Amino acid sequence: MPVWGVQRGNEVHMLVVKKFGGTSVANKERIFNVAKRCMEDYKKGNQVVVVLSAMGKQTDVLLDMARDINPKAPRRELDMLLTTGEQTSVALMAMAMDSLGVPAVSLNAFQATMHTTEDYGNARLKRIDTGRIRFELDSRRIVIITGFQGINKHDDYTTLGRGGSDTTAVALAAALHADSCEIYTDVDGVFTADPRIVPNARKLPEITYDEMLELASLGAGVLHNRSVEMAKKYGVQLVVRSSLNTSEGTVVKEESKMEKMLVSGVAADKNVAQFAVEGLENKPGVAFKLFQHLANHNINVDMILQSVEHDGTQDIAFTVTRDAVDEALDTLERHGETSLKCEKITVARDVSKISIVGAGMMSNAGVAAKMFEALYDAGVNIRQISTSEIRVTVLIDEKYTDVAAQAVHDAFSL
Ligand code: ADP
Ligand code: ASP
Ligand code: MG
Repeated sequence: MPVWGVQRGNEVHMLVVKKFGGTSVANKERIFNVAKRCMEDYKKGNQVVVVLSAMGKQTDVLLDMARDINPKAPRRELDMLLTTGEQTSVALMAMAMDSLGVPAVSLNAFQATMHTTEDYGNARLKRIDTGRIRFELDSRRIVIITGFQGINKHDDYTTLGRGGSDTTAVALAAALHADSCEIYTDVDGVFTADPRIVPNARKLPEITYDEMLELASLGAGVLHNRSVEMAKKYGVQLVVRSSLNTSEGTVVKEESKMEKMLVSGVAADKNVAQFAVEGLENKPGVAFKLFQHLANHNINVDMILQSVEHDGTQDIAFTVTRDAVDEALDTLERHGETSLKCEKITVARDVSKISIVGAGMMSNAGVAAKMFEALYDAGVNIRQISTSEIRVTVLIDEKYTDVAAQAVHDAFSL
């Protein structure tokens, strides 16, 4: 065993949290690549916490297995199953490091005490008791922790929502007061658009929490939106970078030194469906009832559009994520004739959202018009629009997603 691996009393320079996503640990070669990158930090005397996702597409594989057995599998059991993905990758990583002569220990959510809310499938991290992790770090071990999972008050496993390992990493960085939190992935950083959809997208050297939060919430899957929310709340500066090369990546932080970009990025989201509830009475309490029924089933509603009155009635359109469509439809149909008194409910599942985000947008009038012009030139019809201070979102037909993202990206010369 190399002498640096067992020495105690090494001068400890920093505590670093390094998170690696599924593609970065997809096979033996990649696992050893990650192990070696973590060893470099360790050899410098740093304390190293590694957060891993499940290998490759293992989470999807597990979900398919579950659906095959029971399409309506209980959420508790789904989480029990999904957490095995991350448990596999941390154990294999610890084995890889051991074979390279580096002391390492893998911990799951129980061992690392990642306490969450009750909700299976979409739990929020509440508290981490860092005693065990500190003990392992002080014993000069690399600590490898399962991303994406937690435990709730029933001592059951929970998961944090797809892509949730980023949030595990940020929570650990905050709880341990880490000196750095690096998110390693399969692209070189945060780009002006998903580089897989817009090939000429450009890597951003830095981006503010607010812009990143909007982009992540609007479909830029490079970071889990709650990880950005948490990073902002606890002032954890993030670096998003590639696990396959040493390029610098993107810094996500409170204030950007750079001049505020009019538009800093374009996001596309296909996980969306549009509901139209037509012929509602035009009187107080109608919108309340409609959305209360959905809220009672924990269904999140996103873009909302209410029409002006016509023939004494009004229509309301809104969007939900696709996995919520069946439950939303079921709920609305049950209440459609009785409490809602609507004439018709329709659902479009083949829609997507395209958004532009930029802190400089606040003070500039022509931004939305420029986006709509680009879509018009590309022959893309807009079904619904919503805006905030730093973003404009349009709902379009899914088949135009890539064309629209490219057209909007080009229009702003990003
Ligand atoms: P990981 O498994 O490492 O967590 P993800 O698949 O969750 O990786 O996130 C990385 C992916 O995010 C990239 O492969 C890319 O296709 C996608 N992506 C979407 N929007 C962006 C963006 N603006 N910048 C960079 N990548 C993006
Ligand atoms: N393995 C989980 C997923 O695929 C969590 C993650 O990758 O961040 O969603
Ligand atoms: Mg991810």
